Amino acid sequence: MSELQSLDKTYVANTYARFPVELVSGKGSVLTDSNGKNYIDLGSGIAVNVFGAADDIWKSAVVEQLGKLQHASNLYYTEPCAELAKMLCEKTGMKKVFFGNSGAEANECCVKVARKYSAEKKGPACHTIVTLENSFHGRTLTMLAATGQEHYHELFQPLTPGFVHTPANDFEALKKLALGVNAAGIMMECVQGEGGVIALDQDFVRKTADFAKENDIPLIIDEVQTGNGRTGALYAYMNYGIQPDVVSTAKGIGGGLPLAACLMGEKVQYVLGAGDHGSTFGGNPVACAGALTILSRIDDELLAEVRAKSEYVFKAFENADGVESVSGMGLMIGIKPVGPAGKIVKAAIDKGVLALTAKDRIRLLPALNIPMDQLEKAVTILKNLCAEIKD
Ligand code: PLP
Repeated sequence: MSELQSLDKTYVANTYARFPVELVSGKGSVLTDSNGKNYIDLGSGIAVNVFGAADDIWKSAVVEQLGKLQHASNLYYTEPCAELAKMLCEKTGMKKVFFGNSGAEANECCVKVARKYSAEKKGPACHTIVTLENSFHGRTLTMLAATGQEHYHELFQPLTPGFVHTPANDFEALKKLALGVNAAGIMMECVQGEGGVIALDQDFVRKTADFAKENDIPLIIDEVQTGNGRTGALYAYMNYGIQPDVVSTAKGIGGGLPLAACLMGEKVQYVLGAGDHGSTFGGNPVACAGALTILSRIDDELLAEVRAKSEYVFKAFENADGVESVSGMGLMIGIKPVGPAGKIVKAAIDKGVLALTAKDRIRLLPALNIPMDQLEKAVTILKNLCAEIKD
């Protein structure tokens, strides 16, 4: 084990099973380790580096803002924060934005909005949030409660009360549960990422959105992983033709700096008042200045590019030797290999490709602007490994 790895193992909490790779630098979708070895990056820091590593436009904006003022606190106005909120609202039709730093924090804000709205409208007994089985919403105690996967819950009881789970794609079950518990909110990811890169059915999402509207239940869409162009639309819910009431976004929006947002639609726009919520770093001007360069470049042309690359990857793996199925949407792709996904991903590292896993799948979340030749090279390596490693 190298000195760095031993240092990390000694002093950093042992919560991550790290790959034995020491990354030191990168440009676009090529990352370089401490031995000077290059890798084609198909993970982009788990859907964060939307335009790859050390993106020049993002970097200039960040460095420029760093030179002016790195932090102001939310006691004062700063331009990047207000401009980013405006851009998010204009691009989504949402009305107000609360900024935080992580996906879990954005989701917590979404739940606070839904709970306050419902408590004011329907009384304090209306507080239960319905989420889906196999979902993932983050690691805080409340977001673990929201997450519909038992194994995340086991060691951390008691979790925040007021969350119930229902199977994905079963509208009748959702409706029965939501009415039965007098739901204060319904929360879901349109593509379950950590759950195995599984896109929800169109019909289920549309019926749920209609039901939520008819019953005045705020619909929360968790776009932490699916957002910011990842699925070939700016936000994944746009692929379903629905308009949620509350949306969380994080990861990609900051382009590599911690930034998250809870977007509030018309129904809930006035729910949060002064003192209802806060975050010391939320809306930090450096993170927001960078985010403006990310969000402004996720335009129709880039989204069409994402969809074209997605089609290429789906075609490459569908019916390939050693591949059982391909799932996901846009550049959020799950490949179910015949062999163990973890073993294939480890072997890919030796061959210079960084990919991820989600449950029994190889998960790909490349930068949206990954050059086609690099994508093709990495796909060929992964395809060959799927064919080679079958147990
Ligand atoms: N929600 C979803 C759908 C996620 O995929 C994640 C992280 O993977 C989170 C929430 C939590 O985000 P964070 O790790 O930034 O708190």
